[in-house]
Amino acid sequence: MATKTLEDIPGVGPAIAEKLQEACYSDIMAIAVASPADLSEKCEIGEKKAMDIIEGAKLCADIGGFETGEDILERRKQITKLTTGSKALDELIGGGVESQSIMEFFGEFGSSKTQICFQLAVNATLPEEMGGLDSDVVIIDSENTFRPERIIQMATYLGVDPQETLRRIHVARAFNSQHQVLLVEKAIQLAEEKKIRLMIVDSLTSHFRAEYVGRGALAERQQVLNRHMHDLLNFATLNNAAIVVTNQVAAKPDAFFGDPTRPIGGHIVGHTATFRVYLRKGKAGKRVARLIDSPNLPEGEAVFLVTEDGIKD
Ligand code: ADP
Ligand code: MG
Repeated sequence: MATKTLEDIPGVGPAIAEKLQEACYSDIMAIAVASPADLSEKCEIGEKKAMDIIEGAKLCADIGGFETGEDILERRKQITKLTTGSKALDELIGGGVESQSIMEFFGEFGSSKTQICFQLAVNATLPEEMGGLDSDVVIIDSENTFRPERIIQMATYLGVDPQETLRRIHVARAFNSQHQVLLVEKAIQLAEEKKIRLMIVDSLTSHFRAEYVGRGALAERQQVLNRHMHDLLNFATLNNAAIVVTNQVAAKPDAFFGDPTRPIGGHIVGHTATFRVYLRKGKAGKRVARLIDSPNLPEGEAVFLVTEDGIKD
């Protein structure tokens, strides 16, 4: 799937493309749904020209159409479930991490969000007979916490070649939220060459939280986050991939969501993630996972362990 650029819109050359970029109309869909008056004002172009660009963008944008229920059923038959390494945790989430959806793990610092991501990454590379997806993995690392040494430990325990495992895990540091959003496009390109059935964003929200500070920035933060989540969901559907994102809880009351145990990102993240799991530390190295807001599974809890060998019961 080739991604179109602004200059693919009829009537948009390099100069106008640059104006659009500067005014934050960086994708075709945003332009397709813009109002001519807004576009004209922000890009300092005539209103007639703005209308033409919007019409062009509508033609260019991949708005998608309707599918029959039968098509959707057919697609859903392809759904796979990836083991977390813990039977209890797998059961809690309906048999493993599902493809074609977004799974969010949220919790405090040290609650093992990143450890679960590592384990899922290793498991996805395993052959199918070992419960894997025989797939490459993309990790968008926004907190600089990817540790190949940990991957080696987990792969060694499972008896697979650690170097081969590392070769199949593609990691990109995201330096800020904008960069993070763009890396999804990079992943789309990578998925043209490699089979990628798991994409991890660890963490989804930390850059957003650091950059969009205060009440005034909230609407914009939520808008960008919303688009990011939909890009991720799109990737999931196109590639029959599972998307796993991590999220912090607000240690201090958030400007908007006062409750200190609420995940960041509010309704946007909550409504787009198909599954949300809250993680907390238990006694003696145990971790407790609680399923929240699932479309088709009961709420409940599971206990698992984080060990040197990885995630276990
Ligand atoms: P989060 O991403 O939620 O902040 P992490 O996934 O980084 O938390 O979890 C960190 C915890 O994982 C550590 O506190 C430690 O208990 C456990 N951990 C990390 N590495 C190992 C290891 N090699 N052996 C056992 N436990 C580990
Ligand atoms: Mg972490």
